[in-house]
Amino acid sequence: MPAHITPNQLVQLIIPGITAVFSLGFACAWIYDRRLRYLRFLAASFFAFALGSAVQICHLPDEWRSNALISAAFYVSSVQLLAEGVLRRAGLHWRLSTHAAMFALVLGSMYYFSFVTSNLLVRVYILNLSAGASMILTALRFRKHCNGRTVNRVLLWVLLIFGASFFIRTPLTTIHPLPHGTAPFGQTLFWVMLQLSLALMGAVLGLVLLAAAMSDVIDRLTVERDLDPLTETLNRRAFERLAGRRVADRRSYPLALIALDIDNFKSINDRYGHAAGDTVLRQFAAILRAGVREKDVVARIGGEEFVLLLPRVDDTFAYQIAERLRTVLETSRFDQIDTTLRVTTSAGIARYRPGEALGELLARADRLLYAAKRAGRNRVVTEPSGQTRDAPELDAV
Ligand code: GH3
Ligand code: MG
Ligand code: MG
Repeated sequence: MPAHITPNQLVQLIIPGITAVFSLGFACAWIYDRRLRYLRFLAASFFAFALGSAVQICHLPDEWRSNALISAAFYVSSVQLLAEGVLRRAGLHWRLSTHAAMFALVLGSMYYFSFVTSNLLVRVYILNLSAGASMILTALRFRKHCNGRTVNRVLLWVLLIFGASFFIRTPLTTIHPLPHGTAPFGQTLFWVMLQLSLALMGAVLGLVLLAAAMSDVIDRLTVERDLDPLTETLNRRAFERLAGRRVADRRSYPLALIALDIDNFKSINDRYGHAAGDTVLRQFAAILRAGVREKDVVARIGGEEFVLLLPRVDDTFAYQIAERLRTVLETSRFDQIDTTLRVTTSAGIARYRPGEALGELLARADRLLYAAKRAGRNRVVTEPSGQTRDAPELDAV
């Protein structure tokens, strides 16, 4: 073990130092939102890299074979943890057996080319190309899960470029023969270029991953702000925001609004209790969510009143959708509450008139909905085409 750290080593330690700071950043982000479990892998990855780098720079242990093996173990773990962190964020992962096989293969080869026959060049290639391959394969698996988000696309490209850099830099920087032992190795072109590019790419990757984590935290907060926790449909505020966007976009026209209200819901609450009422609300919301397209807006805007905003849906189609949803609810069973319980809904459909305020559209749909209630419930009411705003001639279906 060296007696003291030289100024040169101290400068080199800046890289593991920065990496450790990133590790701390991921750990703090995880403490802030523990549901983002992939952050633990990223924190561990950056920490493992910092350890591997520090072990190599400080010659701990000084015996070069053991040093090569220990630092390699940290580097391989770092790459594997990085891959796992990136994939788990997208709901994917590598199998444990894949990790075990890669670790055993790389470390076994490192052992062979250190202890059995010494070949630094082969060791350099094994370590660097396995890291590059792992990053590229991880990026390729992650590719299908970008979901059009900019931060994901940037992460994909950073991973690909980082991975490819191992394949390009390694042959270019090992043209000069590499020495044995750890001390002179630290002054080779290969080592200096490796450190420089790792510092640069590692910092870029760390920043992109932190940005991705931050955007995930913001997404979660947005979901919590926008979703009704009972039914997991949008709340009124989120509906107004999204509906405002749809209304402003002429490509959404014809734009239909369906207002639905469960019939005699109060009597369900009175007869079976509030918890049973909640179950009915959840099941109704699930029927609504399952019955519409991705771009349709489903929201709970009152106790048992829901709205659907359907872009590019004309009156006939909107009526068919509302009728289908009404029938599905009517024929749904609520065996966990009472096998004889049947729930129905009434609905009113209004078409958006260019230029009108969202409140007016909602009020018209509401008037039609209450026309359906007055007409006996469990039915859908639309506005006859060509109807004027001031003469609500209602067409009970
Ligand atoms: P109608 O057919 O005319 O719509 O009759 P209704 O009984 O459904 O209408 P009303 O508006 O009188 O009753 C709505 C009830 O919904 C009253 C309220 O206690 C209940 N409610 C509102 N929010 C919730 C909720 O989150 N959970 C439960 N279980 N009940 C709720
Ligand atoms: Mg009701
Ligand atoms: Mg109501």
